[in-house]
Amino acid sequence: MTELAVAPVPTSPEITAPETTEQAAVAEYSQSQFVEEVRTERLSLLWKATLAFAFAVIWIVVVITQEVGESATSIFVAIATILVSSGLTSQFLKKGRYEWATYSYVIGLIFTVAVLMVFDNEDTQTLVPFLGILVIFIAGTLMSAQALFAMLALSFAAIIGIPYLGTGEFVMNNGVIFALILMTLTAAISAQTSGELYGIAEWALGSYRKERETAVKLHESRLAVEKSLLKQQSLTMQLRHLNADLDRAREAAEIAKQFRGQFLANMSHELRTPLNAIIGFSDTMLNFPLMYEGVELPPEYRKDMNQIYTSGKHLLSIINDILDLSKIDAGRLEVEIQPVELEPIFKGVLSTAVGLVGGKPVKLLRSTPDPLPMVVADPIRFRQVLLNLYSNAAKFTDEGSITLSLETEPNRVIVAVTDTGAGIAKHQQDLIFEAFQQGESGRKQQRQGAGLGLAISRQLLNLMDGAIWVESELGKGSTFYVALPRYFAPGSDSEWVEVETAPAQAAQ
Ligand code: ADP
Repeated sequence: MTELAVAPVPTSPEITAPETTEQAAVAEYSQSQFVEEVRTERLSLLWKATLAFAFAVIWIVVVITQEVGESATSIFVAIATILVSSGLTSQFLKKGRYEWATYSYVIGLIFTVAVLMVFDNEDTQTLVPFLGILVIFIAGTLMSAQALFAMLALSFAAIIGIPYLGTGEFVMNNGVIFALILMTLTAAISAQTSGELYGIAEWALGSYRKERETAVKLHESRLAVEKSLLKQQSLTMQLRHLNADLDRAREAAEIAKQFRGQFLANMSHELRTPLNAIIGFSDTMLNFPLMYEGVELPPEYRKDMNQIYTSGKHLLSIINDILDLSKIDAGRLEVEIQPVELEPIFKGVLSTAVGLVGGKPVKLLRSTPDPLPMVVADPIRFRQVLLNLYSNAAKFTDEGSITLSLETEPNRVIVAVTDTGAGIAKHQQDLIFEAFQQGESGRKQQRQGAGLGLAISRQLLNLMDGAIWVESELGKGSTFYVALPRYFAPGSDSEWVEVETAPAQAAQ
């Protein structure tokens, strides 16, 4: 038998398998404590009310009617029954045995009614069974349907059996029969109603449980939010510290950079003075014998003197590069941007390139449109970039050609220097534009230089709003591209008129 307090409440999987202790506590509470609390309250109210009501009825019967007579024993037993049942009910309730409390209460009421039937008065014997209807109704609100029908059967047995035991004859008048029928009907209606009440209670409990779970979840989320807020605060603090460290490091780097720039500039200046003397004197000794009263340098010395001269020149170009780079680092390198005619620059570079190639079987070719477009640049710096490209191409090309070509786009002009030399490995192609980086040409004699030319070229082109990049295949050759903004003379049609590319021609 199941009493309402532990009535089967449908449980959802989330509830039967709670995730946290708090959720488990909620499930536990809603299934037992909540119902028990409600039931205890009702039952304890009921037994007290019943006790008071029973005494009132007995008082009316005994004092007002003054007809106790031989039935004193039955009244005494009725009082004793109701007292014992109330005492038991209250004790069981105190111990939390709700089922037992309910049974003691209901059985006590049934026996009280049955004992009152022994009261030897026809009216009493006719009316008292009707109290049984009240008892069945009360039992219906406290018990399950099966328990209720068991109590109905017990009532039948008690109402018929106890008066027989007391008086030796069956009290079966119309009133008793009618009361028994009404009791049966009450039990049936009560079972039906309490079934519905069970449903409503289950629904209410379910809602209550969900609400509790939501509250717990909300509480947990709030805790999580608080935790993450704290974490965020500490992260913000860390970030602040890091930013401060970063600022300090940046300042230190800035200062170091300035020192480096200053140091390089001073050093370059100090080196250039004696170097210019070396270059100047070796040149004079080689080419101006008049300065020595017409005495020619003996042929045995010429080769070494020549070496001194070219090494000096080379050293000077490296020092110049370092000076440029230090100026760029310090943000002090300025370019003079202006409209630039390309023809004079190309001519100059190509004639220098003849010397750079030397006696190697390398053809200098040119494939540019006529007329050439104009660009916006610093002519000296653009020439420096082109010369650097030619110097590299000449250095890394043993045979074949070095070709100068040009392509015009709507807003920019792209100049390309293509050689058939050593080429550059894919993984080196970005690296070579960094300062002091040299590729792996594999040929020691070609690794002169400091790895600065392309780094400077890229910085210069940045200053001129241009760009530089390379396409190359190891062993097949390289093409270096230089892009510069295109210049449109005022009043000229800004649309580029495509000019037929002149066939490749030897510039030598
Ligand atoms: P470097 O003074 O060493 O020439 P650069 O910055 O001008 O310095 O060039 C960097 C490196 O790029 C070179 O050392 C070389 O390995 C590679 N490189 C540049 N141009 C060419 C080229 N035309 N062919 C092959 N390798 C090249």
